[in-house]
Amino acid sequence: MSQVCSVCGEPLDPDHWSRCFFCGGCFHMPWSVNVKTRQCGSYMLHQQSCGLVFVCSLCEARLSAGTDQPNQPNTSSGT
Ligand SMILES: [Zn+2]
Ligand SMILES: [Zn+2]
Repeated sequence: MSQVCSVCGEPLDPDHWSRCFFCGGCFHMPWSVNVKTRQCGSYMLHQQSCGLVFVCSLCEARLSAGTDQPNQPNTSSGT
């Protein structure tokens, strides 16, 4: 694997990474507390998909800011 983290730009650990639900980018996600991999994201409960989804730090910041809803289809009811 030669992918890099979409958050920090460093090479991903082949065993400890996840894909962001919103932007689709891969990021560092340690799957064990004993792993010294940095964590560049988190997971959250997604109500629309009724399950846990992973979200990178970038999207997480956007979501917490509440200013932008990533990957959300705009229901434009205007003319
Ligand atoms: Zn990273
Ligand atoms: Zn993301």
